[in-house]
Amino acid sequence: MKNDALLQDFLSLVDIDGFSEHYAQDIGNGKYFGMPLEPIVIAEKRLRQAQERNIAYFSMEYGLATSFYNTFKSELPANPLNKIPENTVFSNYRLADYFFAVKVDSLIDLPIYSGGLGVLAGDTVKTMADYKLPASAVGILWHSGYFSQKFWFKYGQVPEKMHWDPRSYPGLIPLKNIITVKLKEEEIRLRLWKYYVYSYKHDYAMPLILLDADLPENSDDKKVLTDQLYRSDNSWIKLMQRAVLGFGGIAALSELGYPIDIFHLNEGHAALAFIAKASGLSEEGIKELKNKFYYTCHTPVQAGHDRFSEEDMRRVLKEEDFNLAQKLGRESSGQINLTLLSMNMSSSINAVSKRHQEVMQLQFPEYKDRIRFVTNGVHPYTWMSKDCLDVIKSFNSVIENVESNPMALAKVRSLKNNQDFRFQLWQAHQKNKSIFCNLLEKWQIKEDVFTICWARRIAAYKRPSLILQDVERLISIAKNIGPLQIVLAGKAHPSDNLAFTFINEMLDKVDALPDSAYDLLKVVILENYDIHMGKLLTSSVDLWLNNPCPPFEASGTSGMKAILNGVVQLSTLDGWVVEAEDLGIGKIFGSRYVEGKLGAEFDSHIKSDANELYDSLEEMAKQYYAINKSGKLDLSSQWIDMMINCIAAGAHFNTYRMLDEYKHMIWNIREKKESVARV
Ligand SMILES: *Cc1c(COP(=O)(O)O)cnc(C)c1O
Repeated sequence: MKNDALLQDFLSLVDIDGFSEHYAQDIGNGKYFGMPLEPIVIAEKRLRQAQERNIAYFSMEYGLATSFYNTFKSELPANPLNKIPENTVFSNYRLADYFFAVKVDSLIDLPIYSGGLGVLAGDTVKTMADYKLPASAVGILWHSGYFSQKFWFKYGQVPEKMHWDPRSYPGLIPLKNIITVKLKEEEIRLRLWKYYVYSYKHDYAMPLILLDADLPENSDDKKVLTDQLYRSDNSWIKLMQRAVLGFGGIAALSELGYPIDIFHLNEGHAALAFIAKASGLSEEGIKELKNKFYYTCHTPVQAGHDRFSEEDMRRVLKEEDFNLAQKLGRESSGQINLTLLSMNMSSSINAVSKRHQEVMQLQFPEYKDRIRFVTNGVHPYTWMSKDCLDVIKSFNSVIENVESNPMALAKVRSLKNNQDFRFQLWQAHQKNKSIFCNLLEKWQIKEDVFTICWARRIAAYKRPSLILQDVERLISIAKNIGPLQIVLAGKAHPSDNLAFTFINEMLDKVDALPDSAYDLLKVVILENYDIHMGKLLTSSVDLWLNNPCPPFEASGTSGMKAILNGVVQLSTLDGWVVEAEDLGIGKIFGSRYVEGKLGAEFDSHIKSDANELYDSLEEMAKQYYAINKSGKLDLSSQWIDMMINCIAAGAHFNTYRMLDEYKHMIWNIREKKESVARV
């Protein structure tokens, strides 16, 4: 009976399209796709009341890691479209590439993200749920996701359209609510979908509202607006996608009856949300509205800032809205810049690391005093492997309550002299590494070989091919010190021609390696880098390589995932790493940012930095191979000290610390007694 009443309550708050046909077997008996239903009902009721300052978080993309974190269960068989496809490998062991592919039996991650920005949004939303904030998130239901990546021999990356099925994706539900966005000449109808992001302890859930233009009542040119994330071949589509997120997001919050006091923009893509709210307000009203908007900038790279011509803007926005957008966002070129617009319409501007703040202040001197920083983090319980967490939990007399308070990780330093801890940590790492090695068994990837990984978005400033500049040098390091395994992965944006040249360079370099070198140097390039693979790699390799050209990495987060698993860092000094320089988490190399000088992201010191990379790698290979001196595990090894320092640094580079800073410094939310204490 209680469960029946709960279901009735839920259905009165959430009006699902096709409930009895498609969703009745997964929602009911107190459950929502295997999770408790009650937290949803509590959150939905709470959001409709105006008793607290409700938050709406806007992001173009969300990477929620649904394939391995808080995965929903469905009674229906999984749709093959929603499963991770086979991925081919490109290596210097061509015979294996020819005969085998990597098969992972798992659901795809909800495909509404492209990379780091989306993962950050996903990790933020999960932490908001952990903190039980009165918050909802707004995004877009991308029917073709981002894209699927194929490597073609002698050609490079070929992007393929991705297909998945939202109707059978566990946990995702379409609502009967359909909203209308009225722009200057166009009207777009949008269906609302919901996905619930549960807290780690499953005691709270935060709704993620997803907008969908693929409706019969929309003309074909509107239907495609929510098809592909970051489509940029057409400036009108690009602008209309931003209009869907901004205008559509505001209309959706009002349709659902959520009163909002804090509108947080994760990047400037959603800047038109302000224009939507400001429509019809007096000058005084607009001034007051600014107090409710908060903006986070995520990149110092110019191409990362959206700009639209006056002409395009006039086509989309009504006269009055256009005038406001122009007043707040016009740059000297005459274009309307969404970064400028976002800065001018928000009461708060923040960068995502201390170094990024310095760079942003240099780029926008008029805003210098208003630009603050909150360094990014990662969600600890998403990215820390079960085996590492279990080891830490077993030392709970020293590290208390780590599952409620990741800041307690700092205390692992006091376990440095504990031989049992050192042994168990090493065992956990080796176990994770064996999972990865088994997956690539056909390529003879081995557990006792020093393994280095570079995996992230392929972009010029990240210098994906730096480690392949001199393969002879790599072979000589392997000969003198010990064999090397190098893993590379990443997608290039389909219209980033410069990034393609890096992929081609990487494929060509690997192809040119002699077969005879395979015992010393194995290089594997993995296709279709995604969150699932990110989790596998950041928890299993020995060394995480991060070599952006300073100062173009705003923060970077993949290294933070790695440190939570004791994976040692080899990095240039940029982004978050600047704040971790003295923490003993690995080695820093390469050219440095010269204060006050931005330069260009293409002027990237490849030769000199590659040489420093090899010198550093050689030193680290020596340290690594010292762990197994003459076949015997040496627990006193410095390498294990670095692994422990990494985990300790995770006490700072996580989304709990990050969200505390957003709450206190950016949103001015007063602390309630029961919330998580800081160490
Ligand atoms: C974490 C993550 C990123 C971000 O990597 P950076 O090194 O911070 O650029 C990109 N893609 C995926 C799939 C990730 O999980």
